[in-house]
Amino acid sequence: MQNKKYIGAHVSASGGVENAPVNAAAIGATAFALFTKNQKQWYSKPLTDENIENFKANCEKHGYSPEQILPHDSYLINLGHPEEEGLTKSRRAFLDEMQRCEQLGITMLNFHPGSHLKKISEDDCLQRIAESVNMVLEKTKGVTAVIENTAGQGSNMGYRFEHLARIIELTDDKSRVGVCLDTCHSWAAGYDFGSEEGYEKLWKDFDDIVGLQYLKGMHLNDAKKELGSRVDRHAPLGEGFIGKEGFIRLMKDPRFDGIPMILETPEPDIWDKEIAWLQSHV
Ligand code: ZN
Ligand code: MN
Ligand code: MN
Repeated sequence: MQNKKYIGAHVSASGGVENAPVNAAAIGATAFALFTKNQKQWYSKPLTDENIENFKANCEKHGYSPEQILPHDSYLINLGHPEEEGLTKSRRAFLDEMQRCEQLGITMLNFHPGSHLKKISEDDCLQRIAESVNMVLEKTKGVTAVIENTAGQGSNMGYRFEHLARIIELTDDKSRVGVCLDTCHSWAAGYDFGSEEGYEKLWKDFDDIVGLQYLKGMHLNDAKKELGSRVDRHAPLGEGFIGKEGFIRLMKDPRFDGIPMILETPEPDIWDKEIAWLQSHV
């Protein structure tokens, strides 16, 4: 019998993507995130047949199926870029990442929506993002583009649930678009997750505005800054302003069974303990 909650962390793929499932298994994870290329560079070598075969073999060996894997795209990509050059470059890089997922048999790719860089309006930016998603979905098969909510730092879009809903509204193939909710980001954007009322309201708002059926994964991070700070600083679970209760509530909530829940907390050395603690509350 598998656990009903899939819990893991964003593990290293250093030395090759095939190492990510091994690193995940070593910390007792039942889900994992990875970068399928160097996240700080525009271009990376294509995956080799060996990378692909070994990734699939290691996933099978350690019991990871596609619904437990949520890769993250490069931080350089801005699918809402206000300028042609940056937009084209971003779309090309995102397509490459979606194709890497296709090659690896991965069915989801988590991305940050994009930034208007104070050069276009918020809605223009959201329209560009949706257009980017449409272009890339058109050229790929079997991979869902999973939008991550943001803290709203700088000119990043995605800090309101309405932004996520707007992108989905403008996406042609709604069967291949989804959302990843990052608990630190939603907290920083002003959505309480720590108190019981806050928790209930957050999920009601999410369901009313976005729709719970679009939730494909979560990032579990406590927050180093106050509610509504718009500052993206992750803390280990229970050591930030959200506190332990919100995460315990989440573990006991059956609405969130069967989706990858990924730690991006700042101390990889304690991920095994954080995972075990979360599992102890399922
Ligand atoms: Zn992210
Ligand atoms: Mn995140
Ligand atoms: Mn973050």
